[in-house]
Amino acid sequence: MDDIVLAGDLGGTNLRLAVVNSAGKLIHRVEAETPRHINALRIIELVGCLAAECRTITGTDPKSLVFAIPGPIHAEKGEIFNVPNLPELKGSDLVNRLAEELDIAVMLENDATAAAMGERWLGASKGFDSSICVTLGTGVGGGIIIDGKPLRGPDGTAGEIGHICLEPLGPKCGCGSNGCLEQFSSATAIVRMANELKGEYPESKVHCMTDFDSVGLFQLGKHGDALCVEVFRRAGVYLGIALAGMINVLNPEAIVIGGGAAEGWDLFIDAMHSEIRKRAFREPAERARIVRASLGSDAGIVGAAFLAFQKSGIISEA
Ligand SMILES: [Zn+2]
Repeated sequence: MDDIVLAGDLGGTNLRLAVVNSAGKLIHRVEAETPRHINALRIIELVGCLAAECRTITGTDPKSLVFAIPGPIHAEKGEIFNVPNLPELKGSDLVNRLAEELDIAVMLENDATAAAMGERWLGASKGFDSSICVTLGTGVGGGIIIDGKPLRGPDGTAGEIGHICLEPLGPKCGCGSNGCLEQFSSATAIVRMANELKGEYPESKVHCMTDFDSVGLFQLGKHGDALCVEVFRRAGVYLGIALAGMINVLNPEAIVIGGGAAEGWDLFIDAMHSEIRKRAFREPAERARIVRASLGSDAGIVGAAFLAFQKSGIISEA
């Protein structure tokens, strides 16, 4: 393996691919909209297109591709388990099909684990051996690092913080349960809650918008729109309850929060801290540094590249 890899990240909104070197620099990065009705074939076609563009523009020929997927995977076997937001990918043998199509060695990673490793390598949790990375995107992803190593579990499901149940009778979740963290603190949930609550806030500017996303709601909230303030406060309450539990269980040194809905930081952070203070043991709660992710949407790509370099022995330690 050379000291460059192709690293990709399949998000609910965008599919990104980049040529990354062993210093974590993105030499060239491309992205395309994630197809609405996604299946393995469409991913393979799209990754093939983006990979060709990366190879042509950089004049390089990376020999391996590491691809971050939003769901539990078996990192060694490259097997995909149930992906609540992309059910068509289950058991799709994406590794072998991508390898064949692109004539390249392929490994898969869980996207939140990759983001956690990226933030630890070059981002907000650099220098911390034990950290949790929570991504508030289309869903809520979670990556856990203990003593510098990703915690995966024998089934690859470790770190699925988004599917901690917080309201047993709450909204149905894609995983089959109800009231998971993902149903309250993801970008998708923030939009849903705004729609559910808007009847109670007739003066809200949301009524003037035909379509809105969590960033739009944050902008309104920043200017005092009471509905938007309340929606982010609720997202913060649920996030805080889940994190208090994580702090009690894992005693992490750092918690990194990223993803599109983390844009709303100023509107949810107080409610989140208040729940943590109320519910977690004092010492681990005081120790856990809660910081915003600093690599933005590149965290998954950077971390996936790191794990590929580490696996091949090019990098030994973060
Ligand atoms: Zn769930």
